[in-house]
Amino acid sequence: MHYEGTIIRPPSEANSILIQVTVGCSRNKCTFCGTYTGERFRIKPESIIMEDIAFAAHYCKRQRRVFLCDGDALIIPQKRLLKILQEIKNQLPWVTRVGIYANAKSLKMKSLDELKILREHGLGIIYMGLESGDDLTLKKINKGAGAQDMITMGRKAKAAGFKLSLTVILGIAGRQRSRHHAEETGRVLSAIDPDYVGALSLMLIPGTPLFEDYEAGDFVLLEPREMLAELRTMIANTNLNHGLFHANHASNYLPIRARLPKEKAAIIDLIDQALAGKIALKPEYMRAL
Ligand code: SF4
Repeated sequence: MHYEGTIIRPPSEANSILIQVTVGCSRNKCTFCGTYTGERFRIKPESIIMEDIAFAAHYCKRQRRVFLCDGDALIIPQKRLLKILQEIKNQLPWVTRVGIYANAKSLKMKSLDELKILREHGLGIIYMGLESGDDLTLKKINKGAGAQDMITMGRKAKAAGFKLSLTVILGIAGRQRSRHHAEETGRVLSAIDPDYVGALSLMLIPGTPLFEDYEAGDFVLLEPREMLAELRTMIANTNLNHGLFHANHASNYLPIRARLPKEKAAIIDLIDQALAGKIALKPEYMRAL
């Protein structure tokens, strides 16, 4: 496989065949993100992508899923993306699902019909970083989209028939705006009604603008219990029809996995127990991104 630079994928794609179709991220401006610092975004040459698919056809016969890396690969022009999906279908007929990262911009650039065609060609799940449902926070972290854009584009992905997985970040709004961030994120999640929500806890990355704000005293990093209180407010304000809300990423202080709405009350009760000191939180040295 022709991997270049940092390869990231959602935790749920750990066993997937990772085919890198782009290098870096087309946005690369979010203030908390250091994944692709200094990396120029580019779509990889078709010949290289086809070689990697051929490699997977020989050596990855046991893996049933494919994930197309890197950040925001949905930005690839429709014709080129369709060719990649078609080749996966032809050469890896045992693959049951293809996943990809997207953002509001790349979803906006494709029409609903184009998205439906991608769906028909095997693209099954879209992962999108919502981070927050609070407009001011989204602006501060330079996400490039507001809450309404996120709602419209998230709904568009669902209308096209994709499974949709959204990521939110606990602590991303700092202390003063924590409650508002939690409430608004719950509101936006409810409006989109994704299939999966993954809550990460903010970890500051040296070299990022947010880290510099923190060092200058302009950003307050929440304490573990404050992150947990934020998670509680977020879940209390989130109404999903049948979504899985999980906060079991390595960055989190209390692993949580709940099917909403069925397990909502039980999970809030669990968080309350942790807040009351009856359940131990993960120690700092065991956290990771
Ligand atoms: S958070 Fe996602 S969209 Fe933002 S710069 Fe990082 S990879 Fe790109």
